[in-house]
Amino acid sequence: MITASPSARLSSPAADWRELWRNAITDPAELLQAVGLGDRADLLPPDDAGFALRVPRGFVARMRRGDPRDPLLLQVLPQRAEHDRVAGFTLDAVGDLSAKAGHGVLHKYDGRALLIASGSCAVNCRYCFRRHFPYGEEIAAASHWREALERLRADSSIRELILSGGDPLSLATPKLEELTRSLAELPQVIRLRIHTRLPVVLPERVDEPLLTWLAGLPLQKVVVLHANHANELDASVDAACAALREAGATLLNQSVLLRGVNDDADALANLSERLFAAGVLPYYLHQLDRVQGTAHFEVDDGTALALTESLRARLPGYLVPRLVREVAGDPAKRPL
Ligand SMILES: *Cc1c(COP(=O)(O)O)cnc(C)c1O
Ligand code: SF4
Repeated sequence: MITASPSARLSSPAADWRELWRNAITDPAELLQAVGLGDRADLLPPDDAGFALRVPRGFVARMRRGDPRDPLLLQVLPQRAEHDRVAGFTLDAVGDLSAKAGHGVLHKYDGRALLIASGSCAVNCRYCFRRHFPYGEEIAAASHWREALERLRADSSIRELILSGGDPLSLATPKLEELTRSLAELPQVIRLRIHTRLPVVLPERVDEPLLTWLAGLPLQKVVVLHANHANELDASVDAACAALREAGATLLNQSVLLRGVNDDADALANLSERLFAAGVLPYYLHQLDRVQGTAHFEVDDGTALALTESLRARLPGYLVPRLVREVAGDPAKRPL
């Protein structure tokens, strides 16, 4: 019997994602040029502070031209404020993570183990702890997965395996297949969760082989996307989301609350509505990790709480994300 392929809804034969990945913009001057701000070199810091620009061209195409405050541009453009040293913002803001990620598995929460499957991302988000910890590149080797999974084997409490990073979908599909094949050694695992920004920033990654792999997994599947603003979603992202759902995944989204990007009730409400239109439910709204070079993105807790109150007043409950902060040592994300 011939069945429709899970990506039947993807409108055009997608360009090869690896090519698009390689072809990302990495030169700040080129990015400014591409968004009609070629004459605004004054926006750029004297150097990249050790964290290079990287953004796929399809994502750049969703930015408003000529607007230095564009919410997508602000997430990726190196800024002078990254060089400010602000008390409380440290290299080790997620020290807990960087330390324990040494062997590639974080088992902090009951029933869930998180695997650092890859240290790579298609986009470099300026607010990310990755700016100081390009950890995990070496962890992605299959041998490390085996060791990591071996460690979990004896733990019958683990119901869910979370692939995170970096971005786990940066791995080639055969690597993902290899990884999930070894999950057969963990029969207690019934759910696979994937934390990924790729279907948003490079939706071409959601291609036929990926969908075939996902659809064929004998597990419940959850894909947690990462979008911070409604403008990040366009028709190509809609198509990728539809295909992921057809392949059997439940789609959720996590956002980071970012000053200048999404710190107003309209932006957050629009994001929730836009996500739902794409078949995605808002899950978490994270308070920023206090990582050195990101203080200019921080929204204070009072403002954050007022924003979610305002969302609660105007949206159905299922479109209001949970406002949380990650606190080292806590048994779960801490609600504000
Ligand atoms: C965030 C996180 C999880 C998942 O937490 P949920 O509340 O289930 O989304 C699991 N493990 C680690 C180490 C985490 O940081
Ligand atoms: S995609 Fe996620 S892990 Fe990668 S740089 Fe952005 S926030 Fe960090």
